Amino acid sequence: MKKLLILLLLPLSLFASLNIAVTYPYIGALTKEIGGEHVDVEVLAKGNWDPHFVVPRPSLITKVRNADALIMNGAQLEIGWLPPLIRRAGNNKVTPNASSFLNLAQHIELINKPNSVDRSGGDIHPDGNPHFHLNPANVITLAEVIKDFLTKLDASNSEIYNTNLLSFKEKWEKKLLEWQTKMESKKGLKVIQFHDNLAYFNKAYGLNNLATIEPLPGIPPSSKHTIELIKLIKEQKPCCILHDVYHSTKTAEFIQEKTGIKIILMPHDISALDSIEDLTSLFDYLTGAMQ
Ligand SMILES: [Zn+2]
Repeated sequence: MKKLLILLLLPLSLFASLNIAVTYPYIGALTKEIGGEHVDVEVLAKGNWDPHFVVPRPSLITKVRNADALIMNGAQLEIGWLPPLIRRAGNNKVTPNASSFLNLAQHIELINKPNSVDRSGGDIHPDGNPHFHLNPANVITLAEVIKDFLTKLDASNSEIYNTNLLSFKEKWEKKLLEWQTKMESKKGLKVIQFHDNLAYFNKAYGLNNLATIEPLPGIPPSSKHTIELIKLIKEQKPCCILHDVYHSTKTAEFIQEKTGIKIILMPHDISALDSIEDLTSLFDYLTGAMQ
């Protein structure tokens, strides 16, 4: 009987793949890149949504409930929506202390940590800037972390995960050089943003972020701050406003009317715009938009 059971279960275990829930499309793409056919990925947030404010809908609870593992961005990016999903899903495999739970931010050095955080002021970057995947060099670190995580969950396929990581790295390193060359002449260029999504991108390529249209991360534009910004733009002459795809461009357009500054839409994740189909096209687009 026992033998029969083993025989019956064997084919299943050979073809079973890990069901991994991830919070954002970029994490899904990297997980699929490393895990290949051995992982099924469920992405919780859509790429054109504000990553800070996702509605914890019932369909998302189901995805978390059925997951074998969960990978999050961390650094408080999901603080407003993932904890309630995890609570309601009641799945021990995806609670923050579980070995099948990965917080990517713990493996990255965060920048722009505020000296003092006034939580009542509503700053949504209290641990530092959480948008670290927008430095393409960090993507390699993230791929390595995900490879280690998958290996820990499923040691039987460790060689495959390693091979997939190496071929991803080879491909990505070539692109890093290409993007570096493309951005070389942009070093020192002054920019304005709506939200500080591109802190790591700007740092990677030497762009100088003068200010954001939000007075603080997550705080809506105020007339006082907008007037100061218009003055700053007239004095410092930044090239452009780098704007995310999910906030209204109303204030940016008002500033444009007063100063003539260019507005450039900058996607923050895969499918933030229709043409962004994968991680490579995300950075092709971002570096292309700056030309
Ligand atoms: Zn943010």
